[in-house]
Parts: sequence; structure tokens; C-alpha cells
Amino acid sequence: MRRQLAGIGASRGLALGRARVRHPHVLSLSEETIAAEQVPAELERLDAAMAAARAELSGLRERLQGTLAREVGEFLDLHVLILDDPELRAGLRDLVQTGRYSADYALKLQRDRLAAVFQSMEDDYFRTRLDDLDHVIGRVHAALHRRPDDALLGFAGEVLVADDIAPAELVELARRQVAAVVTRAGSPLSHSAIVARGLHLPMVVGCADALSHVNDGDALLVDGRDGLLVVEPDADDLSRYQVLRAKIEKKRVELERLRRAPTRTRDGVDIGLFANAERPEEIEEALACGADGIGLYRTEFLFLGREDVPDEEEQFATYREVVRAMGGRPVTLRTLDLGADKADRAGLSLRDEPNPALGLRGVRLSLHRPTLLDTQLRAILRASAFGPVRVLVPMVTAREEVEAVKARLGLLAERLRGEGHALGERVAFGVMVEVPAAALTLPDYADLVDFAAVGTNDLVQYLLAADRTHEALDGLFSERHPAVLRLLQRLFEEARAAALPIHVCGELAASAPDVPLLLALGLRDFSVHPGALLEIREAIRACELGTLKRRAPALLRCRERAEVERWLARGQA
Ligand code: PEP
Ligand code: MG
Repeated sequence: MRRQLAGIGASRGLALGRARVRHPHVLSLSEETIAAEQVPAELERLDAAMAAARAELSGLRERLQGTLAREVGEFLDLHVLILDDPELRAGLRDLVQTGRYSADYALKLQRDRLAAVFQSMEDDYFRTRLDDLDHVIGRVHAALHRRPDDALLGFAGEVLVADDIAPAELVELARRQVAAVVTRAGSPLSHSAIVARGLHLPMVVGCADALSHVNDGDALLVDGRDGLLVVEPDADDLSRYQVLRAKIEKKRVELERLRRAPTRTRDGVDIGLFANAERPEEIEEALACGADGIGLYRTEFLFLGREDVPDEEEQFATYREVVRAMGGRPVTLRTLDLGADKADRAGLSLRDEPNPALGLRGVRLSLHRPTLLDTQLRAILRASAFGPVRVLVPMVTAREEVEAVKARLGLLAERLRGEGHALGERVAFGVMVEVPAAALTLPDYADLVDFAAVGTNDLVQYLLAADRTHEALDGLFSERHPAVLRLLQRLFEEARAAALPIHVCGELAASAPDVPLLLALGLRDFSVHPGALLEIREAIRACELGTLKRRAPALLRCRERAEVERWLARGQA
């Protein structure tokens, strides 16, 4: 039966596909028993699910290539070992046969038993394997609920419905041509959403009812712009889908014409348009869309989804690839910004933080782990021999942090030269403005840095005390809050007075409807994910700077988001 579920659009695009539901790894099931005569069928169901999970793992292993085979392959091998463990199998069968539990509940009981054993081990290694145990149990549980004809589908063309998803997982899903992702948790500002946009993978987050209302194999229509999910769509939905698809395609073709067009306002002012990237694969699109350079390269993605830490050579090779590919355009490499929602699985043994967004993240973590920082700065400096490189320091709260990183950078450059490495003539040094303390004191950094980058995702989160990943705060977390606008205007003005180049690389810069607002506030350089470059260029070309400047005082007088929205709706008038 048709049902429509509401979520929040996190990555635009439409998709139609069958659901592949991934239940939360930690199963919360109530006790479920079966009658004696059901035992043989239940055992058969269990065996089939175990076999399906086994086949999935082997299939996945075979499809992996290159570095991914090394990184992900180890996990998969371990998962096969856990799945093949005779104790796990015997325990499960016994729970069904003797205990008369359903296969699902047996799975939960056996998981809890093994988890208790893992947790009681002294050895850290076993304790961290709990996560892998949960992955395996989750996979078998999903297989228990899959229709027989779905088992062979893999992920291609399917819509993954999950509790939540880690940024690194999305890359693998896109590679496996998953059609869309829907999660119960999450927000459009989470890093997973940012990665999904980079991958052009439609995504709906904060869909509270997704897990309880969608079954494996249901037909799903996903609208990643409006945050809609239609389960078992009817004929009307499908024709609406066709119309929307045609519209999106028409727009895409229109935007293609802007690939070589200047990023210039109607009254002839050139605006800088840079790209954000997380992976070297994104560079091609950035170049094809005429990006002026890379305004933010999130290096932490090289550290995610793996158990080891990339060494200097690996980091150097990656940064060099990006710098070379950009062919002389500046590349802004941000030092590691792990922590908060980005540290799902990195080989850095980060401890669980009670308050991750306010904890040891960004430059705080780098200064806490000097070897990590040195290795990264060395790799960045070496990459500077291949083109203009700018180092960007994230999550800065105090001048001392910037001084400390700058001192290391100078020292390491000297050392590298002493070791005979070629380095670029001048490596620009910049600061991320994303903590209100730094935003309120920007001129104090002018003698230390060459540029500043405003991370509105975090700046808004800290200014409004609203978790950027919290699905229930979508209404409150808003870049259109008057406090945000006034702070941004002040920042741009102070940067101009200090002759400090400044750009915005938070997601606000990639929001086409907000372009007039940013221009009115004084922004002249944008950095956005490659998929948004053309749309932002189009929006900039539609603006008249003179008019926006005249309208700026009215914008700064707005007291509520609704007034800001009315200001925007009045357009160029
Ligand atoms: C930001 O905070 O706006 C930003 C660009 O950094 P990230 O999204 O990686 O935290
Ligand atoms: Mg940030």
C-alpha cells in the first residue's frame, strides 16, 4: 500500500529502486518463541540467512579492487571468520532447537552472549572487535528478512534504508551504484550528507519512520531535494517522477553551458568560485566546471574507514595528485579535522568523547598528537613542489594554536630542505573561522595568516548552540538567523580592512538561493562542492551587486528568519 514518509532532503536527485533495509546493528527485539513444529522451518530460515550473508561477503570481497581491496578486504575477511565460527553457529541452532526461540531472537541472544565475552577480555583488540560482531549479526538479520529474489541484487539500483550512515561507507555504496540512501538519523549538515552531495547520491535524512515502515524489497521513490520518501508509489507518483526527472535533466543541460562562463555579476564584478573536495576523484569535475582552485580539501577523508593511519608517503602521494591535477590553480589543504561526527572509524584510537563537538577535534587533536601533525605537514609541504598549496588550520579557537602550527610548519620546511626535498616557494597559511571566538577576533590573526576560510557549518552550530547533525534541530539550525548574518557581515568587513582574503567554504556558500544574501553581506569568494559550482555561478550571474549593496542595511536590520526570507523573496527589487 502507498505511504509517504517525510524526512529532510540532504542530497538532491530522484531515485526509484527497491529497499534494502539495514537494521541497527544492536538488535532491540522482544522475546519471540516458536512452536515445536516450526523448529525445522526456522532452522532452515536461519541457515539460508547465514548462507546469504556469507555469499554477500564473498561477493563483496571479489568486487573490491585497488587500495579499497586492502583497506576494506581485511574487515570482510574478519567478518567471514566470525560468521564461520562453529560456536556462533552451534549456539544459534541450539537456541532455536532447544530454546524454541525465533531465529531473530536467537540472533540477539547469541550476539549478547558473545558481546559479553568480548567485553570481558583484557585485550583492547577484542573489545574493538565488538563492532565487527555487530556488523555480522546485522547482516544475518537483514538476510533473514530479505525476499529470495532480492538476494542476488547486490546494491546496484537499490535504496539503502538505515539507521545512520558513516561518511566513509557512502563512497563504497556509490561505487556499488546504490540508487539513494535514506536514514532515520542525520542532518543535511552532517559529513555524510556533505559526502553524498559530492558523490551525487540522492539522500534523505531524519526520516523518523523509515525503519519501521519500510520492508526489504519495497519499491521506493526518493526525492532528495524535498526530503520525501514514497513507499510503493502509485501511477500518479510515477508520472510525477517522470516529469520531475525531465525537469532536472533540462536544468542540467542548461547549466552545462556555464562551464566556461565567467563568474561575474550582472554589473560586471568578478567573484571567486572555488571547489571543496574530499577525494582526488572530485578534482576532475571541479576542473570541468571551471573552479578557480580548491578552497577546501578535507584531508580527514584519507584517514577514515580504515584501521591504520596513512603515513607520510601515502599522504604526500594523495596531496600531490590533487595539486598536480589542478594544474597551477591553488589548492587549500586543510589539516586533519577529525572528531565529532567524522571519527566513525579511523585508525587513531580516538576515545569516545562525552561532548564530541566541543572536544578534542580539529587543530586541538593535531596539537595533542604532534607526530600526526608533523607527518601531515611534511606531506603537505612536499606536495607544494608541484603547484600552489595553501595550508588551512581547522577549529581554531585561540591565536596560540595558530602560532604553534605555524612554528611547526616553518621548522619542518627547513628540515625538509635540509633533507634535500624540493618545496614550493611560498606556502600560504590560513585559518578556518568556525568557532565564534575566532570569528570575533579575526583581525588579531592578520599578522599570522595569509587568508581565512569561514566554515559556516560549524560556526552556525556553535553560535546557535545547535548540533549540526541533530535531525530534530533542523528548524533551529539556520544560516539565516540574524546573529549569523550580522557576524558574517562583520567578518567580511574586518577581513577587508585587514587586507585578508576570506572565503566561505561551509555549505551556505553552496546554497543558490542564499547567494544574494552572501553578496549583500560582502562576500566575494565562494567555495562549494563540485556538484554545486555551475548552479552557484548561475546564481551569481543573476545578481546585481550595486542593488544588493543598497539593500544590505535592510538585511542587517532583520530580527527573525522570516524577515530574512522576505528580504530574499524581494529579489533584486
Ligand atoms: C564548516 O564547518 O563549515 C566546514 C567547512 O568544515 P566541515 O564541514 O568539514 O566541518
Ligand atoms: Mg568545520
